Amino acid sequence: MKAAILPTGSTEQHNEHLAMEHDTASALVVAEQAALSLFPDVVVATPMPVGISEHWMEWKGTLSLRPETFFSVAFDICESLKRHGVEHIFICNGHAGNGPLRNEMAAFSEKLGIDVRFHSYWEAYSKEFVAEHLESGDCPAHAAEFETSMALAAFPGNAHWDGVDYDAETFDIQNENYRDKDAPYHYAARDLATPGKGRIMIDEASNWVAGQVRSMLDGSAA
Ligand SMILES: [Zn+2]
Repeated sequence: MKAAILPTGSTEQHNEHLAMEHDTASALVVAEQAALSLFPDVVVATPMPVGISEHWMEWKGTLSLRPETFFSVAFDICESLKRHGVEHIFICNGHAGNGPLRNEMAAFSEKLGIDVRFHSYWEAYSKEFVAEHLESGDCPAHAAEFETSMALAAFPGNAHWDGVDYDAETFDIQNENYRDKDAPYHYAARDLATPGKGRIMIDEASNWVAGQVRSMLDGSAA
């Protein structure tokens, strides 16, 4: 075992119908499927369940780490893996807000003397792939067709519509990026998400992550 995949997620609101652990659960599903396809060369580390989610703190239940805390925890996990002999670490991210961790990869790699990379798993999808498989054409979006389809495919207990009456709710969304998108995302989730789409998206992401990790193991990654 020379490589590890570290899933990073979040605990944050995912509209009214998805569980707050969605980003963690989805990154873990992709990581596990990728690692299985590379068995026995790759281990999946315990996922980081809380990320950088300051932008959703107005929703009760959202938990957030300061960026420097998030970076420090990620580093310490990577160092732990290194001490167990891991030479390549692929951080498989499931939450867009964690993106700044990407900027820490050169420092992580240099300090640890091993190869550490960061990618959000939806980097697997080309524009054409998204257009072909998602009717909304919007990916990753937030708690919309894509994420809801993944939940329906891999952990359906995390998606539910019982008691969800979006039109009866009054939301006061402060985040300017999401204020206008929240309703379209909700209706896309409700009307367009299917487990079949979720399976296609999970398989594509897992294959892509496996290819990335394989190239790290082969020393051929760019
Ligand atoms: Zn999400």
